Amino acid sequence: MVKRIKTDSLTEHNNLFVYFLLIGIAVVVMIWTLEEHYNVILPYDRYGYAISIIATLFCLVLSHFFARTNLAKVLLFGYISLYLISLTIASYISSAQTGDIYSFASTLQWVPILYLVAFLFLPVKQAIFSSIAIYVLLVTLLLLTYLGFIETKSPSLEALALNISLTHAVYLFCMIGVMRLKQTHKDSQLKALQMEHAANNDGLLGIGNRRLLQSELNTRVAKNTPFSLLLIDIDFFKAINDIHGHLVGDDILREISQCMSDNLRPQDTIGRWGGEEFLVIANGAKFDTALNLAERVRSAVENHAFSTVGKVTISIGVAQFHENTSASQTFAEADKALYKAKGNGRNQVVAA
Ligand code: GH3
Ligand code: MG
Ligand code: MG
Repeated sequence: MVKRIKTDSLTEHNNLFVYFLLIGIAVVVMIWTLEEHYNVILPYDRYGYAISIIATLFCLVLSHFFARTNLAKVLLFGYISLYLISLTIASYISSAQTGDIYSFASTLQWVPILYLVAFLFLPVKQAIFSSIAIYVLLVTLLLLTYLGFIETKSPSLEALALNISLTHAVYLFCMIGVMRLKQTHKDSQLKALQMEHAANNDGLLGIGNRRLLQSELNTRVAKNTPFSLLLIDIDFFKAINDIHGHLVGDDILREISQCMSDNLRPQDTIGRWGGEEFLVIANGAKFDTALNLAERVRSAVENHAFSTVGKVTISIGVAQFHENTSASQTFAEADKALYKAKGNGRNQVVAA
């Protein structure tokens, strides 16, 4: 079950990544077109945009072939980080020299996307570490100006850098908060699934319990899909408990349950109705098919060598569900047939 949750969330995560990449390509194309139109494009951006589109397409291909790994996501994060950080440094120096803050401001507004990509696609610890590292780099840039290593003609550049170091701290704080919420949501989802599993399954045998059987029966009847019921009871089970003890009795229950499950079709549902009674919902099975199936299960148990007690047998009552009747009516018919099987000497299948 935990595996199922993991697989579901992996697919969901990969889909999100693919959408992210596609939107990324569209946005880069739009910005490129826009900047060309207004003639504000920086010469190195032309190469940068083209390389970004190729890198994103490469990650798209990687994410398809290495869907089970983090490779494409880590590479994408590495690429965007390298691209944006070098661009930030270059544009900061260029803005400091010319006094025109457009190139720095326009690059800077894209830097928070790094935090987003990190928190969306990297494992939590890596995401926090990389985001803080990027933030420290930005603040260092600001410090270098204050310490006089980078000279600037524009006082607004200093103000902008100071402003950025505060807003980015807020972004980081929010991202860590969202991450914690996401983790809490994941934990609750896992707990809910574990509780649902516990409510519907038998703790001793690991198969469905009466609640699950009942709900599946209700679904079948509501949809009016054909099925037959096999009501199964172990013969002289009390004697096994009395002679070998309850723990051995439990082992026999497990072994019989496994043996019966192995001899059913994939579309059948087996569950523990109660005590040492089992119910099989033979989906789509008409009477003949259900009788054959019951005989197969009965004979498999009869021929199974139980490690501690040798031979154990079962009796089975079979009934077919008919339209416009109820599940409880079909169950009552199977119960009657089982009673007959017991009366006729046990270890047999009786049709209702
Ligand atoms: P019959 O052939 O008529 O069915 O005889 P039987 O002895 O099997 O009689 P019955 O079906 O009434 O037996 C029920 C027994 O199953 C009584 C109870 O102690 C035992 N049993 C029910 N649940 C469990 C369980 O979880 N573990 C063990 N060890 N025994 C159980
Ligand atoms: Mg019984
Ligand atoms: Mg019994």
